Amino acid sequence: MRMGEGKRKKIAFLTLGCKLNYAETSTYERGFLEAGLEVVPWSRQADVYLVNTCSVTATSDAKSRNLIRKVHRVNPEAAVVVTGCSAQLRRAEIEAIPGVSLVFGCDEKSYVVPDTLRFIGVTEVAPAPAGSVFAAWSSGERTRSFLKVQDGCDNFCSYCTVPYARGGSRNVPLAECVENARKAAALGVKEIVLTGVNTGDFGRSTGESFLDLLKALDGVDGIERYRISSIEPNLLTEEIVDWIASGTKFQPHFHIPLQTGTDEQLAAMGRNYTTDFFASRIDYVRKAMEAPGRPLVFFGIDVMAGLPGETPEHFARTVAFLRDRVRPAFIHVFPYSRRPGTPAASMPGQVPEAVKKERVAVLEDLCAQLHAGFVEANRGVRERVLWESTDRDGFMEGYTGNYIRIRRPWEPSLSGQITEVTI
Ligand code: SF4
Repeated sequence: MRMGEGKRKKIAFLTLGCKLNYAETSTYERGFLEAGLEVVPWSRQADVYLVNTCSVTATSDAKSRNLIRKVHRVNPEAAVVVTGCSAQLRRAEIEAIPGVSLVFGCDEKSYVVPDTLRFIGVTEVAPAPAGSVFAAWSSGERTRSFLKVQDGCDNFCSYCTVPYARGGSRNVPLAECVENARKAAALGVKEIVLTGVNTGDFGRSTGESFLDLLKALDGVDGIERYRISSIEPNLLTEEIVDWIASGTKFQPHFHIPLQTGTDEQLAAMGRNYTTDFFASRIDYVRKAMEAPGRPLVFFGIDVMAGLPGETPEHFARTVAFLRDRVRPAFIHVFPYSRRPGTPAASMPGQVPEAVKKERVAVLEDLCAQLHAGFVEANRGVRERVLWESTDRDGFMEGYTGNYIRIRRPWEPSLSGQITEVTI
């Protein structure tokens, strides 16, 4: 049956996890809209519910299963389609949940739209796009888009399940990334966030370089700002920093995973750098990009509390390293989650949950102090804000280039626009 013959089918989406998952769900959504389906909120009756799952922690696995059960209760007749990392790592468990119709692993993303359409009786379906990497970009927001440029990872850090869930490092071809950026620009998007699992490892499958990608994207008309969602410290090379500092659309905002602040623990976790190297990379970026009267660089740093073997002394040194040496603007704090099948799961010295909780609280306090200090240190500096298109009780908000949130009275003509402000 061709769509349009009979009642228009309804589909709802639920997404957990990272920016990559949001870009992929948004790409599925465009495919179903092109096939004539109507998108509705998941709380409404739909013919299909697509749940894009996350498996980075035990909690996200549980949340994924709960969402699947929830939508099945909303409409027990509907097809429930499950994608994402839980679908890859816990397939049998997911398939056993009542109501689940289709499950797609991480290397089956190209089949999600065509196979689901066939499953609900839509016969005239475009074939699945070929290629080892499912290209994706988000189009849900007017101002910002998440652009998938890379997938998978070859690092196998001791605590991480992502390489098992998303496979080896590979990338969307440079030309296709540029094409997708142009499509986002055509929708009026002004800012693009480059996403991946190990984003800086772009080029593994095509041999193209990450710097060449940045340069090519910098030339896309209509896009005024770029951010790199996350980059490993060893992949943020001096060459890339020098180029970004030479006056490009890439903003003074870097999200860099540290995970822990002692060399013993970094080695135990299979992280391929030392604290000295990490600090020297931060210093290099600051030296290249900061000057009196100019915005300071926003560093967002991932830190995990309670990794196996982390003693109170290790933790105290991690806090000191962050507070006194790195001084980031923000700390993304995660309690270590014991993931079956990872080397860290069977390591001695597992930290009790109560201690993990205490350490998370200490890091969150430190984050609040550092962030307040960062905003204060930028006081009086001129910066550019991309205003979001949401009226928040008569006010509107947006981020500066160096990722400080600014608020002003609602002015509809400014939504999606970039204007200068004094922080
Ligand atoms: S680099 Fe990141 S995604 Fe890759 S294994 Fe390590 S923590 Fe996981």
